[in-house]
Amino acid sequence: MSDFLAFKTRTCEIIIHYDKCIAPKCKFACVKADRLYGRNVLKIVDSKPVLAVPPGEASRLCNECLACEINCNWSGGGAIKINIPL
Ligand code: SF4
Ligand code: SF4
Repeated sequence: MSDFLAFKTRTCEIIIHYDKCIAPKCKFACVKADRLYGRNVLKIVDSKPVLAVPPGEASRLCNECLACEINCNWSGGGAIKINIPL
């Protein structure tokens, strides 16, 4: 597995840095947050968060709620960075 996952949303880019991912210590806060506040864009494979849908579909599906990044930070991970163009 590559050490990061990057995918585009409508206006942002989301990057998950696997070298900073502390799963399962974080209890997969990003995937849980995506299920609660997002659109089921993420799933767990081999104890890491990956795209649950093809990249083009993720771009359409993601509601840019930012919950994955925020909850990753709260869980002590700090592995997700969402680049928002200003
Ligand atoms: S921004 Fe929201 S919808 Fe998009 S991947 Fe993160 S939690 Fe899921
Ligand atoms: S919440 Fe952060 S540390 Fe935990 S699985 Fe997701 S990306 Fe990795």
